[in-house]
Amino acid sequence: MEREQYLAAINPRMPEKRYIHTIGVMETAIELATLYGEDEKKAEIAAILHDIAKYADIEWMEKIVRDEKLDARLIGWGSELLHGPVGAYIAESEFGITDEDMLNAIRFHTTGRVGMSRLEKIIFVADMIEPNRKFDGVDRLRKKAMKNLDKAMSACVRHTVAFLIDTKQPIYPLSIECYNDMMKRED
Ligand code: GDP
Ligand code: FE
Ligand code: FE
Ligand code: FE
Repeated sequence: MEREQYLAAINPRMPEKRYIHTIGVMETAIELATLYGEDEKKAEIAAILHDIAKYADIEWMEKIVRDEKLDARLIGWGSELLHGPVGAYIAESEFGITDEDMLNAIRFHTTGRVGMSRLEKIIFVADMIEPNRKFDGVDRLRKKAMKNLDKAMSACVRHTVAFLIDTKQPIYPLSIECYNDMMKRED
């Protein structure tokens, strides 16, 4: 499938705003892939599909978690935590994506995880810094992303965890594990 076909497939599954965000993630992910020597096509397609499950029915997603034996801890966390893992399931089952690195980039784009690949970091960071994102500190993250992917990943996960603490939200185990992994690697 080509870019236009993927875009046509995801478009009806999300509101216009999310579609525009997805285009931004795609363009940013390709830019980062070029910069860091990653496969641009993999980055492009993983980016297009990353939020495909964002508006899927929660009951349906929880059924997928059970039926497909995904991480059982996901039950009860809601669509923000479900849409990555379920998105990877859709990418594989509906779109025939078999590349495990692409599937992991979709699966872990919200939380990160320990030992992320270059492609996983690219999608995680691109999701956070794409041109339509507006929050305090995003410009600093954008500059970092153009200089050092690991440092940008570290700063992005730190930002997410700090935001969750500030807003009194529970932190999913993978998010904490990813944060710890990044901080241990900081020099
Ligand atoms: P989006 O799908 O493009 O909006 O971005 P993400 O998939 O990265 O994140 C979706 C939402 O999940 C954001 O509002 C994050 O703040 C939130 N989120 C990320 N990690 C966690 C976590 O560990 N716990 C909770 N409760 N929310 C999280
Ligand atoms: Fe997402
Ligand atoms: Fe994200
Ligand atoms: Fe996103």
